[in-house]
Amino acid sequence: MKRGTLYIVPTPIGNLADFTIRAREVLASVDMIACEDTRHTKKLLNYYKIKKPLISYEKFSEASRVNEIMGMLEKGQDVALVSDSGTPAISDPGTILISRVRSEGIRVEALPGPCAFITAICASGFDGPFRFIGFFPRQKGLAKKEFLKISLSQEMSVFYESPARILKTLQSLSETLSEREICIAREISKIHEEYIIGSVHEVLAVINRTPPRGEIVVLVKGSSQRLDVDEDLLRQRAKKLIESGYTKKDILRVLTEETLLSRNVLYRMLIDIS
Ligand code: SAM
Repeated sequence: MKRGTLYIVPTPIGNLADFTIRAREVLASVDMIACEDTRHTKKLLNYYKIKKPLISYEKFSEASRVNEIMGMLEKGQDVALVSDSGTPAISDPGTILISRVRSEGIRVEALPGPCAFITAICASGFDGPFRFIGFFPRQKGLAKKEFLKISLSQEMSVFYESPARILKTLQSLSETLSEREICIAREISKIHEEYIIGSVHEVLAVINRTPPRGEIVVLVKGSSQRLDVDEDLLRQRAKKLIESGYTKKDILRVLTEETLLSRNVLYRMLIDIS
């Protein structure tokens, strides 16, 4: 029996008109739409006069819904996956289902469409390769590691942040990177769309005056220095690790993680430390 196809369908991130003709055609043709919040998706479907059965597929029910959706695909039914906004599986549920469907050899078709961080990058005028973090980590230890990665990375760092936390995140960034250029993209494609671009301390001053509301993407330009690491500090850290009984191999592993430098570069910097 012919099996169905899983379609991954991006939906608007603000302006309801940002919905491709193909996305509409696919949603109108499938047997079932898997979505995060059925009420939210219904609004979009009503706007485009699409009537389809919905099944909820959200973060907390992801694993348990997979079998149900697999059953439909096995029976030859087509299923579309949407999220509340933007591209499914980008900081949204989807990966568990998509990887399972792929592993069973069932067809997956992803439609191109709206995605907040891609639009933010296009509009910023910032150049070069980037690393997308998703939501900025909330846990203290992970956040600290991320700040270190951002300060060392020569690539632009891109992340999602909530309006309630943006001030604190920028304050932490400004402790070490107050001159680094950043862009805050807010409410993309909505009435109050806004881009604030400048050094961290300049943007912080704006945000201190008017705390931002709505949805936010943050872009932090990469480090322009070839190496942002203080070599003396690095050597001191290596010596401490030796005193604590670490082997050279372990030290290289720890420092590679902490600094993001390659093992070869670290090896050359620390070659004379015994
Ligand atoms: N899947 C979505 C995508 O493709 O961009 C992202 C979903 S994630 C749960 C939601 C976050 O994306 C928001 O908290 C915000 O950081 C960002 N976001 C979504 N829509 C946005 C918009 N219109 N303007 C700025 N940021 C937006």
